[in-house]
Parts: sequence; C-alpha cells; structure tokens
Amino acid sequence: MKVMDCLECKDLDRALKLTIASYMTARSAAFYRVCTDIAAKKEVDMERAKTALQEHRLVCPLAIRTELADHAGDFCAPVAPASKPD
Ligand SMILES: [Zn+2]
Repeated sequence: MKVMDCLECKDLDRALKLTIASYMTARSAAFYRVCTDIAAKKEVDMERAKTALQEHRLVCPLAIRTELADHAGDFCAPVAPASKPD
C-alpha cells in the first residue's frame, strides 16, 4: 500500500478497509446463512466506501500526484530479463 498524505484519502481508505473486513466477516461467518440481509447491506456499505474513495481521488491533488508517481515508477523500473535466449 502506498503512503497517502491526504487526510481525506486516509479516512476514506480506512473506512473502505473496515467495510471490506466487515463484509468478509459477514460473508464467511455462520450468520451469513442466517442473515443474508446483513451481508447484503455490508456489501452496499463496501461499494459506497469504494465509490467515495474513487470519487475523492478524482479531485484530490495528492492522490493524482501519487498515481502519476506510481506510473513513473513503472516506466522507470528496470525490466527483468524474464526470457533471455540461451
Ligand atoms: Zn485525498
């Protein structure tokens, strides 16, 4: 995971992780069979948190800069000699 300087990014990211964890628990827990409504609601919460983070990142200058830095890193990364002819 990349380090994010933006507080809102951090908050949204933390919220997303919590909802994902909560959803996973609901899915795997025994009560998923008993109460699919709760699991479904948690899935909605998770999607909402995901959307909130994505929408914020569209307008967040720090996130945009981080994305660019990530891509620059990809381009600059040394290419591993995966298939060298012998
Ligand atoms: Zn942000």
